[in-house]
Amino acid sequence: MGRLMWLPEVLRDAGLVVHEFDGWRERGRESYEPIGLIIHETQGSAHSQDRDEIRVLAITGSDSAPAPIAQLYLSRTGEWTVVGSGRCNHALTGFGGALLGKGNSSLLGIEAAHAQGETWQGSNLVQYRSYVRGVAAILRHTGWPVEHVVGHKEHQPGDKSDPGFDMAQFRRDVAAAIAEEGDFMEEIIPGIPNEQVFRDLWHWMSGLVQGKDGADTGDRFKFPNAIKAGFATHTTANEALRTEVAALRNAVDELRAMLTPPAAPVSPALPDTPVAPEG
Ligand SMILES: [Zn+2]
Repeated sequence: MGRLMWLPEVLRDAGLVVHEFDGWRERGRESYEPIGLIIHETQGSAHSQDRDEIRVLAITGSDSAPAPIAQLYLSRTGEWTVVGSGRCNHALTGFGGALLGKGNSSLLGIEAAHAQGETWQGSNLVQYRSYVRGVAAILRHTGWPVEHVVGHKEHQPGDKSDPGFDMAQFRRDVAAAIAEEGDFMEEIIPGIPNEQVFRDLWHWMSGLVQGKDGADTGDRFKFPNAIKAGFATHTTANEALRTEVAALRNAVDELRAMLTPPAAPVSPALPDTPVAPEG
């Protein structure tokens, strides 16, 4: 697989806000064949600033890991930053979980800004939902199974405690997000491979909202919601029309039956002339 140059586009296609940290294209080692994801929390301060967290991940490293630490960073506001494209240093070779025996050369790491024990409920639900959505987008792109989404605490049991949320629930939420997206796109234009159509449309709409300077107005989600609402209205109207046409057809059939004169009685066929047996 090599470098993950598709990260920003795939996350943006999912409707997420994505920043690209300087040098991400070259950051991390080339020898990289990821087959799954490790879910992390930074376990920094509850009031950490994004720029400080990203600096640790990309430039300075931490007490336990040299930089670059992870490919992706997720802020408390749910915004993503692409930090690196190659192999990073976020995990040891796993001694638990579904990616047992796998190390950094096989793993994509996501670090979410979060203090140890900090809740994922309340105002932090925005961050959780973005986590689910981003991971779902990555799986849709790579085809990795949802079982290959593993918490750091599952990968290194007894050694690590991140993330704070329940990983089984997280995987169910990711699977649901993937299924929902698939159904929605299948409904819009059934029967043709419409993912690309949806992506093109999404790019076009994002461009309209973001403007030339790339500044995000926060209105991105209004567009897909408007499409969904419009599609629902269209479907309802279409069904009403079909019902009406069927009722009209029945009425026309009944009128025809009333206007058509009864058919002339058919004379019974004459019996065959009996043939006298020769004798
Ligand atoms: Zn971790």
